[in-house]
Amino acid sequence: MKRAPVWRTVHYPVMTRHLVLAGAGHAQLHVLQALARQRPATPSGLRVTLVSPSRWQHYSGMLPGWMTGAYTLADCRIDVAPLAQAAGAHFLEDRVTALDAARRTLHLSDGQTLRYDLLSLDVGSEIDTGWAEPLGPRLLPIKPLDAFATVWQALLADAARQPDTRLRLAVAGGGAAGVEAALAAAAALRNSPGVRLWLIAGRQGVLPGHPAAVQRHARQALARAGVQVCAQHAQGTPDGLRLGDGSLLPVDHVIAATGARAPAWLAGSGLALDAAGFVQVGPTHQSVSHPDVFAAGDVCARVDTALPRSGVHAVRAGPVVAHNLLASLAGKALLPYRPRPWSLYLLATGDGRAIASWGPFSAEGGWVWRLKDHIDRGFMARFACTPGDSIA
Ligand SMILES: Cc1cc2nc3c(=O)[nH]c(=O)nc-3n(C[C@H](O)[C@H](O)[C@H](O)COP(=O)(O)OP(=O)(O)OC[C@H]3O[C@@H](n4cnc5c(N)ncnc54)[C@H](O)[C@@H]3O)c2cc1C
Repeated sequence: MKRAPVWRTVHYPVMTRHLVLAGAGHAQLHVLQALARQRPATPSGLRVTLVSPSRWQHYSGMLPGWMTGAYTLADCRIDVAPLAQAAGAHFLEDRVTALDAARRTLHLSDGQTLRYDLLSLDVGSEIDTGWAEPLGPRLLPIKPLDAFATVWQALLADAARQPDTRLRLAVAGGGAAGVEAALAAAAALRNSPGVRLWLIAGRQGVLPGHPAAVQRHARQALARAGVQVCAQHAQGTPDGLRLGDGSLLPVDHVIAATGARAPAWLAGSGLALDAAGFVQVGPTHQSVSHPDVFAAGDVCARVDTALPRSGVHAVRAGPVVAHNLLASLAGKALLPYRPRPWSLYLLATGDGRAIASWGPFSAEGGWVWRLKDHIDRGFMARFACTPGDSIA
């Protein structure tokens, strides 16, 4: 009698590779989306972990609108937990405190270590507040955005309780973030007659690097809003701001929107960093020293071109980094991120208008605000995802 075949399961060794996404920044949202889209065809044996300190990723482009009451906080934040779930990623609500690129290991604030085979870094940048530390509790860094949102709400509540109280508020930083924050603060506090507002723009003045017409629109908007512009360097003291001309500006609070600083923990990582401590990457956003590390957004510094640290480039590099991570796992060719010669910047002026800056062109008006609102809401809608959703 013929015997029935005996089926045996043969176990081939499956190489499990671990892709770690550190930070849920703008570019990483695209990575999560790309991973979700290709499921269930995700490379077998691939494990994905997302590490970020909060499930909420606040969108800086809408923060000034939130300060003026145009948006609720819920309008301006993306829930990354369902995005991670849709991508098949395990979400660790924690922060990276150290990176050892030689050992391919991340250390987290709760003491755990995480080994990776491939790492995607999009942890953003910090506000450079070294100049302002003597201000102590008067100092309000605009980042992290969630921490700023909490202190700003408390400040507004105080002002609303005592509308006639004298409040001296300075915003430090002449770039887009500083200008938008000063205009938003002026709009939010317009019913408090005791408020005085300054924008400390630094020696280069308002919006350096933007065309003269954009700078003019910004100065006009600041004048309309009653914000006094001070084009001087400032140093924090326990009593207020010491300005470049030696005078002391006594202030109650200083919102710092002054330049980007690299996360300090990168210094001991062994990754190639630029002089300011940012991760050096080539056109494919792969680390120039460690091919198993990709970085995008504010945390990276391109070695081939000077990319401004802006949300625009973090967003645009996202799909390229997403492709490159998957291509790198599959041993396929990587793509470069080629920035366009001009990027569109839309700056809210807090009064239902906005300023557009695009290469040498500029515009200002209510229609620019409506365009900005449309683009920003569209960006948020792209990443709105509730638990159990798949991503279209
Ligand atoms: C008020 C304001 C207005 C702005 N307006 C504009 C604008 O109109 N246009 C524009 O182009 N740019 C604008 N910017 C700049 C823009 O916000 C940044 O360039 C952009 O957010 C950078 O994106 P990113 O992905 O690098 O990092 P982020 O968006 O900052 O995201 C970083 C992520 O990493 C996480 N993270 C941080 N530390 C760790 C850690 N140790 N471990 C794990 N995760 C970590 C954070 O929680 C966050 O999820 C503005 C900035 C501000 C402050």
